[in-house]
Amino acid sequence: MSLSHEVIIIGGGPGGSTLGSLLAKKGVDVAIIEREVYPRFHIGESLLPATMPLYKEIGFYETLKSGKYIDKYGARFVDFKSQDEVYFGFRDGFNPDIPNAFEVERSQFDRDILNHASLCGAKVYQPARVKSAQCTKTQATLQTTLGEMTCEYVIDATGRDALFGKQNKLRTAHPDLNNVAVFAHYTGVKRNPGLDEGDITIGLLPNRAWTWLIPFKGERTSVGVVCTSSIFKVGSDLEEYLHTMLSMSERVKDMMKDAERCTEISVISNYSHVSETYCGDRWMMAGDAAVFLDPIFSSGVHVSCTSAKLASEVILKCLKDRLSILDEDRGARYKKELDKGVSRFHNLISLFYGDNFVQQMKKTLTLENSRKAFTSAVAGDMWNDNNFLFQKNVL
Ligand SMILES: Cc1cc2nc3c(=O)[nH]c(=O)nc-3n(C[C@H](O)[C@H](O)[C@H](O)COP(=O)(O)OP(=O)(O)OC[C@H]3O[C@@H](n4cnc5c(N)ncnc54)[C@H](O)[C@@H]3O)c2cc1C
Repeated sequence: MSLSHEVIIIGGGPGGSTLGSLLAKKGVDVAIIEREVYPRFHIGESLLPATMPLYKEIGFYETLKSGKYIDKYGARFVDFKSQDEVYFGFRDGFNPDIPNAFEVERSQFDRDILNHASLCGAKVYQPARVKSAQCTKTQATLQTTLGEMTCEYVIDATGRDALFGKQNKLRTAHPDLNNVAVFAHYTGVKRNPGLDEGDITIGLLPNRAWTWLIPFKGERTSVGVVCTSSIFKVGSDLEEYLHTMLSMSERVKDMMKDAERCTEISVISNYSHVSETYCGDRWMMAGDAAVFLDPIFSSGVHVSCTSAKLASEVILKCLKDRLSILDEDRGARYKKELDKGVSRFHNLISLFYGDNFVQQMKKTLTLENSRKAFTSAVAGDMWNDNNFLFQKNVL
């Protein structure tokens, strides 16, 4: 006999775990199926303040605040030519009550948030892999390593594996973004003093390349370099590549001068993609499984958790009347609302990859209203229609 739940979420990353927590808290019989044994490495380590209200809503914020994770009060962008920097301090945003987020090692963070979903009442199957899924108008049937499972609604939160997107050929590479990221963890990277210790530093490099430095609680810092696929030479010596790229900015070079690598070097490419639709009668996609643009503004986890919140609202409505997700335009409205914030992130990303981001922003941030508006956007507050940047189509 197959295992059965009202709702099954495939993938126990931040998106799947947030959705599982939200639904379980409303009394839904929800299960999460996660393939990997945790802790495991995952990329995506810098969080945004705009996600914090949702983590408060599901009761996860206390875990973040418990001292394991370093507070992130701002993001600084340093130009490689002039060494000029622009700083977005999150206290300056529209919501001074959310002055920070956190930098997290995902091995620990993902374990914590999936555990939280379980504490909220979600049933977690781990390790278990969904091999394929078939949906009719009234239910979904999953073939998994634990056998067959059925549910009324299934959510694909499988991240870049994008089970439904690949199975149903709904995914396409993003037309403008085609980058490669090379990264590792280091010890001994120089940090900013005091409360600025947890800031993310983005170093702008020549030819639209850039580097991130994300400090964790303790000794480790995540360091990565992003460049376009046309510049990155497959088969290059990765250690040498990182060294060359990181040395192109005097400031970054100085921060890295006593650094020692403490993990393998990883490479990820072609990670930017969109999907033509996010829903069917009995299925939805959330998080990276639906869409991922670019890591420059650390938007991935926020978009994923926001999509989880939006998806939970759709599923709760559907469970009331047992209707299809496509009825009453629910699926279309979910896509429209998710894409609203995603396209604003896209506009901000385009601004970054345009000319003179640091100089332009430095000037803009001298005006108080603009500082608030841009800082809010960099903090991830992209679904807030009150921001004049969105009203005036600046972003
Ligand atoms: C270079 C780079 C840097 C990034 N930096 C940041 C950053 O600083 N901040 C940020 O917010 N985001 C960042 N991101 C994006 C971030 O990694 C993702 O947006 C985020 O992890 C998405 O969360 P998710 O829950 O949707 O998917 P994931 O976190 O990928 O979780 C999906 C889960 O599904 C599981 N799974 C997959 N297939 C199956 C299956 N068939 N059966 C069962 N389980 C399955 C996986 O094991 C995984 O645990 C970065 C991305 C890249 C490429």
